[in-house]
Amino acid sequence: MLVVYIGPERFSYELSLLFELFAAKADIVIADTKEAFFERFGIEDFGLMLEPAGEQIKITAGHFDQTESSLISAENTEVKRRVYEALEQAYAPRSPWGILVGVRPVKIVHEMLDQGLMMTDIRKALAETYHIQTDKIDLLTEVALRERPHLYPVEDKAVSLYLCIPFCPTRCSYCSFPSNDLAKKGKHLPDYLDHLIEELYFSVNQIRRAGKYVDCVYIGGGTPTTLSAEQMERLLKAADEALSGFKIKEFTVEAGRPDTITSEKLEVMKRHGVDRICVNPQTMNPETLDRIGRRHSPEDIEKVMHLVKTIGFKTVNMDLIMGLPGETLEDAVYTTNRILELAPESVTLHTLAIKRAARLNREASDDERESDGRVEAMLNAADTLLRHHGITPYYMYRQKKMLGNLENVGYAKPGHASLYNMRMMEERHTIVALGAGAVSKICFPEENRHERVANFKGLEDYLNRFDEILEKKKEI
Ligand code: SF4
Repeated sequence: MLVVYIGPERFSYELSLLFELFAAKADIVIADTKEAFFERFGIEDFGLMLEPAGEQIKITAGHFDQTESSLISAENTEVKRRVYEALEQAYAPRSPWGILVGVRPVKIVHEMLDQGLMMTDIRKALAETYHIQTDKIDLLTEVALRERPHLYPVEDKAVSLYLCIPFCPTRCSYCSFPSNDLAKKGKHLPDYLDHLIEELYFSVNQIRRAGKYVDCVYIGGGTPTTLSAEQMERLLKAADEALSGFKIKEFTVEAGRPDTITSEKLEVMKRHGVDRICVNPQTMNPETLDRIGRRHSPEDIEKVMHLVKTIGFKTVNMDLIMGLPGETLEDAVYTTNRILELAPESVTLHTLAIKRAARLNREASDDERESDGRVEAMLNAADTLLRHHGITPYYMYRQKKMLGNLENVGYAKPGHASLYNMRMMEERHTIVALGAGAVSKICFPEENRHERVANFKGLEDYLNRFDEILEKKKEI
């Protein structure tokens, strides 16, 4: 058992994320007080105690009969590093991302590049301070260098717009997003669309009055193509009108589920200037699709991709998930090869994350929750195949509860990297987000900080308290 007491509360959250990396190796007990710590700390256990010591932090770590104390600086990274080293020594497993538990590791590289550090020094710091594995350092630095021409110099008048359509035809078993089942909540869709369009006009007006402009639009969800062709026409016509006079560099619709995509809807998108769409198979294995609650077949994906290619969009992205229940390395290779035959310009490789609110959290077996190198091998095999087709990493992020503590990586051919995705991850540009559950990010690049402004998550709250949403938009 790992018994922990953290005196200085400000470290509790980040350290609890770090402890999760070792959860498979040890039961973890967090003691609220020092007395509780000593009551629980037994002969078989490993103990870890953090106490304030003037300007410094005293860390005591070790087995019951052999603990050692040291004083370290109270700086966040230093504390995490020392705790990680103690746990690694006790429980052996290495995390590919070392002490990094945050969502956006590439930001660290951008910050070091901004400070004028040389790449050799950056790599050294990533290895020694953060304990990141060499292949992940390669990925981080490759992504940062590919992103920089798209993100710098920061154009602080440019704003991206995100519109959320929080409806899906069925619920995927791994999903923890508060999406609404079309069969149950579809009756609200027309009303929702009216409100979303009103929020769109209102927000773009605010953006103009602030002397800024929109140059990038992303319609995501949920599944935006749960809208009928007529509803899609209404929304995109409103976007055309609201955004008139702006030069839009990228316009994405995350079509997502092939069972909702029709040639009529694609024609509407094409007519209104959508130039990037996502068709998301997740896997080309029919048994897995069935198990995760996606009501489409691999052949549906192929049919939709033929339609998409015939109508012609600049960029088509396809999302895959590595580590889906029951899948092997061979399945991952098969899926990657099969989607490469469909010639997407972009592919996003996700690692399965089993979130608490997802149905899969109740269904997955213990083996399916463990990576044990399996998912890393899948990501590596898919990476090799994609690179062989000239599709290379351009953005990445991490989530909690990912198998093997791995990552999600967006790949694209040259000229097809998504501006929205890079801006979203690196938090140097303002994103104004509309719709239920949408979260705007107002960035202050000179101060290297941003503020989040969240809309209500629930559909009913969004509809019934819409005036409050517009009030918040005024503050933005
Ligand atoms: S399509 Fe996406 S948002 Fe909808 S249920 Fe599946 S994972 Fe969730």
